[in-house]
Formats: sequence, structure tokens, C-alpha cells
Amino acid sequence: MVAIQKQVDPATAASVAADPYWWKAAPLAADEGADNTLPSRADVVVIGSGFTGLNAALTIARGGRSVVVVEARALGHGASTRNAGFVSRAFKHSFQSIVSKYGLTFAKNLYGELDAAARSVETRIRDENIDCLMKANGRFMPSASETHLTEMLRDLEMQRKHLGFEFTAVSRAGVADELGTDRYVGGAVIHGLGGLHPGLYHAGLLRSARAAGVTLKSFTEVTAVHGEQGHFDVSTSSGSIKCRDVVIGTNGYTRGLLPWLDRRLIPFDAFMIATRPLSGAEMRLALPGGKVAIDSNHNALFIRPSPDGTRVLFGGLTGSRPGPAAQKGERLSRILGGLVPSLAGTAIDHSWTGKCAATFDLFPHMGCHRGIYFAAGYCFVGIPMGTYLGTKIGQAVLGQREAASIFADKSFRTLPFYNGQPWFVPLVTRYWQSLDSRTRSGVLAS
Ligand SMILES: Cc1cc2nc3c(=O)[nH]c(=O)nc-3n(C[C@H](O)[C@H](O)[C@H](O)COP(=O)(O)OP(=O)(O)OC[C@H]3O[C@@H](n4cnc5c(N)ncnc54)[C@H](O)[C@@H]3O)c2cc1C
Repeated sequence: MVAIQKQVDPATAASVAADPYWWKAAPLAADEGADNTLPSRADVVVIGSGFTGLNAALTIARGGRSVVVVEARALGHGASTRNAGFVSRAFKHSFQSIVSKYGLTFAKNLYGELDAAARSVETRIRDENIDCLMKANGRFMPSASETHLTEMLRDLEMQRKHLGFEFTAVSRAGVADELGTDRYVGGAVIHGLGGLHPGLYHAGLLRSARAAGVTLKSFTEVTAVHGEQGHFDVSTSSGSIKCRDVVIGTNGYTRGLLPWLDRRLIPFDAFMIATRPLSGAEMRLALPGGKVAIDSNHNALFIRPSPDGTRVLFGGLTGSRPGPAAQKGERLSRILGGLVPSLAGTAIDHSWTGKCAATFDLFPHMGCHRGIYFAAGYCFVGIPMGTYLGTKIGQAVLGQREAASIFADKSFRTLPFYNGQPWFVPLVTRYWQSLDSRTRSGVLAS
């Protein structure tokens, strides 16, 4: 049964910022200045200034090539500064299902790379000396139904056996030690994973890219890429630039540059809110375990403390149609209040959205099509994947052997007649919500 929640009053709604909470501590980097002229030439042009673009650019610049990153909006405008900050090796396909379909060796290699992606974030942070409040105190995965729980624990057990990934099962009574709710039947804590402040991580990458000699051009939209490998002409809103190689790092914001890529990516919207500052007692009631948490729903709810432990950040309604920030925020805060009763009616300060991208096989992909490099389709795990595949695509441009990856080998398919317009996403979302609504916590998301 869903508790009746206090409505957010219009005055409160009016004061909800549509900016991500993360931009308070890490405002988007200002324009590079009035002089937005592009160099006429570079070895490599990287399109997009998120985790993918910056990790690629950094790798390529350190390999001795000249690099220009071209960003249509402010640097970091995309999902990289709008996400929840979870660093995980989450994957839409269970380990068991990959074993059944591709065999144990492939499954171990695949999950091994997912782990390597999570570790690559830690390495990047350490090597670049980025203070982004990374905390690997575990990831709580509560389950809304006994069936989900049994499947999840069986899968985690297999991962422990074959890969050594450690976890602790959480009983129904134990859920209250992690999250102030009685909506879940149990769960698991995955050790060695956690969260960071994505705005500060992004700001640190920008700093490193600048220091490595990368030229960063904001408010410069790429409108077309002509030519072939070795001889590209990149047209932008601020002029054109000749280069040997092009990297596309636009993930959920991909549109119109390479129709082949458009036809393989399924962009969708994701939504988050941040509560007003809460007292220590309020935080302990809501998130006693202090961990990042994501449930086992098909359309998952995710919740975490802000890195400074003063607010609850919450997300859901993934894939639904975007709407005014205050309205979306109000819906999310009602879902939050139904999930964590101590937060019912708590005012929210921020309600924001960002674009992600999925793929038809739900695998991330990297590769090179007609001489244009890309990495995209992270299906909601773009902090590790953007870091890992961004770096790999940089290595590919440099012709290094380390660029090899399972995500480069797998064929990247589309469906007949799909042209990049994801008209079916709200239908899939509704279908997932209907599956979830049969479970206790899923009722809240409907
Ligand atoms: C609400 C939300 C929560 C999320 N939570 C998590 C999480 O907890 N953990 C996790 O791992 N992932 C999460 N993600 C996903 C993750 O944020 C993304 O997968 C990741 O940031 C993608 O990085 P990127 O660099 O590939 O793309 P983006 O950061 O999206 O950057 C793409 C950039 O390309 C630019 N661009 C597009 N077209 C052009 C053009 N023609 N010319 C120039 N520039 C262009 C855009 O303006 C944009 O800035 C979440 C996403 C959202 C929205």
C-alpha cells in the first residue's frame, strides 16, 4: 500500500533548481573565452567533452599527438556531470545468462573487463590526483521480490566462485541497517564498489587534459565530418578543422554525425533529485548504511547520500518522457517518500535530467567505422565505461595493442528500419514498470 504523501507546494516547486546538484561544487567550465577560433589543423579531433571524450583526449595527447576536444555546449554539459556517481561493474545481462549463451571463458573475460573498467576509474583518480570524494564502501542492491533476490544471490555466488567478486547477502531484517525502508525482501552488499562526485571527477579530468596540452573548445557544435581516415575535415559552428583522426564521444547526445552510429544507439532520459540539506539524524534514518544503493527492479530506483553526507540523492523514472524539472521532481519525491517514509514531504532543492544511451544487445561498444572511432552505448554505467573505453579508444587511435577489448570485438547490430528515433523507449519503460508494479516496491514507481 502506498502512503499518501504531502504534495510539494508551488512555492517549494518554484525554488527547485533544474541544475544538477553536482554543479554546486563543480560549476561547468566557462567558455574558453571570446576567442573561440579553432586551430585549422590537429592530429585528432574528439567530439564531446564527457568522460569518454576527455579520457580519449588525455590518452592521445600523452601519446604525443595534438588533440582538439570540440563540445557543442559548456564543457561537461552531458551526462558525465549529471549522473548518480555510482562506480560499478553492473551489466544488464547476468553472469549466468552470459555463461549460458557464450560459455564460461567469454563470461569470465567479459566480467573481468567490467571489473577492469571500475578499477580504471580508481587508477585515473589516483594517477591524476583528482579529489572527487570516491568512497568504495560497498554497493547495496536491495531486491523487491523473492524471485529477483534468489536469482541475484545465485548470480553473485557464481561471480564469487569464478571471479572472486566478494559480496554479503542481506536478510529482510538486515535491509533496515542499509536503507530506511521496509519495501525490500532482502539484498546484497557488493564489496569494493561505491561512488564518487562526478562533477569533481570531470573537473579533474579537464584539468589534466589542459595540462597535457589538449585544446578544449566549448560552444562549438560539430555539424559534419567529411573525408576518410588520415584526411578528415570536421565542420563546426565555429569553422572547420582538418585532422588525421576523429573520435566520437557523444553517447546519449549522439545525433546526425554518423548515421551508422545513430542507428545503433538508443538514447533515453534519466532523472534525479537532491533533497534539501538534512541533519545527521535524518541522514541516519534514511540511509543508515551510508552506501550507494540500486534496487533490482527492471526500471531501477537508485539512492545515495551526497558525498558530504548532508543530502539524499535519488533517481528513477528512467526512460520516461522529459517534463518540467519541478514536475518531475515532485513525482520523484513522492516515490522517494513512499520508499523511505522518514523522507515523505521533505523538500527538494534540485531536480535534473540527462541523456544516456543503450544498445540493442545491451552491451557497450567501441570501434572504428569508416575511419571514425567511437565508444558509446554504456547502458547506465558510463563512469567506468566512459573512462575505460574512452582510454581504449585513445589507445586505438595511437595504434597500441592495449586497445583490445571484448567491447570492440562484438558485432554492433541495429534493427531494420531503426533510424535513431527511439519512439519505443516510453513503451519499454511502461512495460518494465508494469513488471515492477507486481512487486512491493515497484508499486511506488507506477
Ligand atoms: C541521471 C543519470 C544518472 C546516471 N547514473 C550513473 C551512475 O551512477 N553511474 C554510471 O556509471 N553512469 C551513470 N549514468 C550514465 C553516465 O553518466 C553516462 O553513460 C556517461 O556520462 C557518458 O559519458 P560520455 O562522455 O560518453 O557522454 P556525455 O557525458 O553525455 O557527453 C557527450 C557530450 O557530447 C556533446 N555533443 C553531442 N553532439 C555534439 C556535437 N555534434 N558537437 C559537439 N559536441 C557534441 C554533448 O553536448 C555532451 O556534452 C547516469 C546518467 C544519467 C543521465
